[in-house]
Amino acid sequence: MKALTVVEIARFWSQVDVKWPDECWPYRAARNDAGYGVFKLNGQMARASRVAYKIAFPDVELTPEVVICHHCDNPPCCNPGHLFLGSYADNTADMVQKGRARGVSESPTLSQARGAATKHKRAVEERLPRLLEAVAARIAAGEPTTYRSIAHLDGYWSARKTLGLTHRQIVEKAKERACAD
Ligand SMILES: [Zn+2]
Repeated sequence: MKALTVVEIARFWSQVDVKWPDECWPYRAARNDAGYGVFKLNGQMARASRVAYKIAFPDVELTPEVVICHHCDNPPCCNPGHLFLGSYADNTADMVQKGRARGVSESPTLSQARGAATKHKRAVEERLPRLLEAVAARIAAGEPTTYRSIAHLDGYWSARKTLGLTHRQIVEKAKERACAD
């Protein structure tokens, strides 16, 4: 999938019920039989969650083999924080391991999916310092760092879901950062 133009991005978000950062953002326009939103892009129907992911992570190449999954198990949801290149990548590691055990080499498709997952993780890792800085600034200002007060920050959900950090770990890391300055 190619990166979307500014006009396409605006058209896409106009069809999504954008809510609070930790809530599901349901797609309001057409849905397919499985409940996934469908968005017309360059004359073709694209899955809305896929489009939402591409907008949030334009650098991640979404080849047809790459699957976008929902942490929230809510097919029409387009909240990028709820989306991940998960089960396929997880399956991949599993399948590769099993394949190796049987002496089967890794297929190009599997390595592609793994490459996309690695890229995604790197993109999230690159965003982490910005999130930690934002949290550190709150700590420095004496503001609360409860779930409710920081879950809306950019990169929070990706750090939780993709990097596997807990809320507490994010706050601890931000504290370390605040002290280092
Ligand atoms: Zn959701």
